[in-house]
Amino acid sequence: MPHCLVTGGAGFIGSHLVERLLAAGHQVTVLDNLSTGRSENLQAVADHERLRIISGSITDQPLLTDAVRGTDVIYHLAAAVGVKLVAENPVHTIETNIYPTELLLRLAVQGGQRFFLASTSEVYGKNAKEVWTEEDDIHLGPTSRPRWAYGCSKAIDEFLALAYHRKYDLQVVIGRFFNVVGPRQVGNYGMVVPRFVDQALSGGPLQVYDDGSQVRCFAHVSEVVDSVIALTESPAGPGRIFNIGGDQPVSIRELAEEVIRRTDPSVSIRYLPYSQAYGDDFEDVRRRVPCVDRLAETIGRKPGMTLGAILDDIIRWKQEVRSRAGS
Ligand code: UDP
Repeated sequence: MPHCLVTGGAGFIGSHLVERLLAAGHQVTVLDNLSTGRSENLQAVADHERLRIISGSITDQPLLTDAVRGTDVIYHLAAAVGVKLVAENPVHTIETNIYPTELLLRLAVQGGQRFFLASTSEVYGKNAKEVWTEEDDIHLGPTSRPRWAYGCSKAIDEFLALAYHRKYDLQVVIGRFFNVVGPRQVGNYGMVVPRFVDQALSGGPLQVYDDGSQVRCFAHVSEVVDSVIALTESPAGPGRIFNIGGDQPVSIRELAEEVIRRTDPSVSIRYLPYSQAYGDDFEDVRRRVPCVDRLAETIGRKPGMTLGAILDDIIRWKQEVRSRAGS
């Protein structure tokens, strides 16, 4: 069975990926600095005989080189993520998201590893199209607005990965995640679903930014990691970019209403201007809907869980966490 390195393996998506790889019989090395990732995320598998956890940063070159040694596949998920964190720490974002990716790609050329590069729908920026396909133009905002540093840093990662594929035949596949949600996601970095669920379970109000007409598609992390593994193992993956996410659009107002319906119908919604939430130079993306045909054609499936089922799973998890914390 292959030996996989998962950078960011203690993170929200990373920890689900690690569990799935272990369950499939793989040997797994995790490299994580536990900044946005948390050791509790790997609690269920912490003592697993096929898991090695290295605590440290991907910006530590000797450590990264050591972590790659002896592996067959690299899942590169470590990054500075979350709109709020990124807007507040632009230097950290650029340093974490670009230089280590370049080093990892170079190491994989030398070591012959297959490579999954986690990217993001932020790469499309504020493209006004109804539905985004992988070959669409990117429409980032001005460099004076820190939000775009994240999408731009990941776009550079993508350019690097594709260049290494062309020049060295590196077997790299790129996945652009669209609003992945599920158990273990925390709201500290701005993510809307855990924030709404927390707010609802605390009696509200739910804080909807702007008028709530902005649109997103949410995908359950279990379906996303299934897609990630299937793409990485597919012979049709290398050298290509794939949208990974749900394709059922929902407005943030509808999302808030759905959370309220499923938790506590007496909770109210409060509308807040963006400037109050993120500061004055913030720009939101009004609509973000992926076309996932390429993913479905390549692996034969796509994330399809309904929003209701996704929310129920997250609410159940949050209630468990809250009752553990209270007991
Ligand atoms: N949002 C909100 N309330 C919150 C957090 C986010 O209304 O407490 C909105 C945010 O402005 C955006 C959407 O929800 O339009 C999704 O935000 P998130 O940060 O989860 O992800 P994004 O899609 O912006 O990367």
